[in-house]
Amino acid sequence: MTKKRAAKSKAKIVAPTPERSAIMRAVKGKNTIPEKFVRSALHKQGFRFRIHNEHMPGKPDIVLPKYKTVIRVMGCFWHGHKCPRGDRPPKTNTEYWTAKLQRNVERDKKQKRALEGEGWRVLDVWECQLKTEAWFKKIMQKLRP
Ligand SMILES: [Zn+2]
Repeated sequence: MTKKRAAKSKAKIVAPTPERSAIMRAVKGKNTIPEKFVRSALHKQGFRFRIHNEHMPGKPDIVLPKYKTVIRVMGCFWHGHKCPRGDRPPKTNTEYWTAKLQRNVERDKKQKRALEGEGWRVLDVWECQLKTEAWFKKIMQKLRP
């Protein structure tokens, strides 16, 4: 391939739109980067946990049996967080996406109730909160008050 051609094909790469990155996240599903980040932070603090427990409602991301606590790592767009990142209406296929995201929100609520019904404490960490350490302090206050 000539240099000129290589440059041309590179130019074809398109920047991800919110919709597209949501799809990419959905495809990846488990073990997303924010989730790994949260797990690693907890692990460094000496917490031991189980991941994606099949026998619990919603197969929660992180389960801390010793603390009877579940930590869910939530993508803002995908789970309808009321923040600048999550509160963006999809520009294409708006109806489809709005309905889909609404279903996700409902399912999250249902799973939370089911987990709480089984005696678990449910802590949600949002993707946008990972930019500062406040989320971690909040979790620590709950786990090691
Ligand atoms: Zn958010």
